[in-house]
Amino acid sequence: MADPDTDTDDEPAPADAFAALSDPIRVEILDALTDHHRDEGLAPIGFAVLRRRVGVRDSGRFRYHLNQLRDRFVERSDDGYRLTATGARVAGAILAGTYTGSVSLGPAELDSTCPFCGTTAVATVHDGQCVVSCGDEHPLFSWHVPANATRDATLAEVVDLAELLAFQAIEQALAGVCAQCYDSVETTVGDPDEPGFRSVCDTCPGRLVGPISFPLLVDPDVAGWCRDHGYTLREDHVWEFPFVGEDATVEPAGDDADGELVVTVAIDDDSLTATLDGDGLVVAVDEN
Ligand SMILES: [Zn+2]
Ligand SMILES: [Zn+2]
Repeated sequence: MADPDTDTDDEPAPADAFAALSDPIRVEILDALTDHHRDEGLAPIGFAVLRRRVGVRDSGRFRYHLNQLRDRFVERSDDGYRLTATGARVAGAILAGTYTGSVSLGPAELDSTCPFCGTTAVATVHDGQCVVSCGDEHPLFSWHVPANATRDATLAEVVDLAELLAFQAIEQALAGVCAQCYDSVETTVGDPDEPGFRSVCDTCPGRLVGPISFPLLVDPDVAGWCRDHGYTLREDHVWEFPFVGEDATVEPAGDDADGELVVTVAIDDDSLTATLDGDGLVVAVDEN
């Protein structure tokens, strides 16, 4: 445990970072810097020009707020000020409504049916969470979407985006990185009796829970086999893949399996067998 009095780590705590953004003028400064970089690239902007753009007359007051953003969000050079990489990300997130938006849409019927009961799939967005289920309340899909991605979009478009973001998050988790906070995460596949793909972040509330077929769908060889059988994540909803709704067959990879699982999935009369290591990475694929 670090003693707070002697702790020399000068990395600001997350709460301090958000406190630096607590005044609307500071958010407007990030906004003005974002506009500047969009037009002028990475070149710094002078103090007086930036102050006029933000529209603060009192130069001392403006300098005070600008200084609160240094050095984490804004850096200063002889030529003026510019966003740090962190500042650019935070400005993007604020503009995307990540920290303020609370969007609700729907319910609306999708051009898709539930694989469990055949009724029409229904999508809603509530408080930024995109949820697809059916009339019988079978859960088909759930993932969060940033507020600005829902502006001017149909619910069907929001669902497509949410699926894209979810599968990007699966790929990042398989690479050992949390898609929300970029801290390292571990992934697990359960055991043959209770298979399932799972990744829970220790640092943030990011969590991924899905069927054992999810890590298969992001493997290039499995995705290619699915494409040859008429299914792609780009064209089809994830719950429409024949083996995602029904259970895939899961067996241990042998007596000395070391957590590896052999998963067999079928489309029409063809089947494919994929071997997953304990983290969910596909290590071998065999078309049967
Ligand atoms: Zn259903
Ligand atoms: Zn995280």
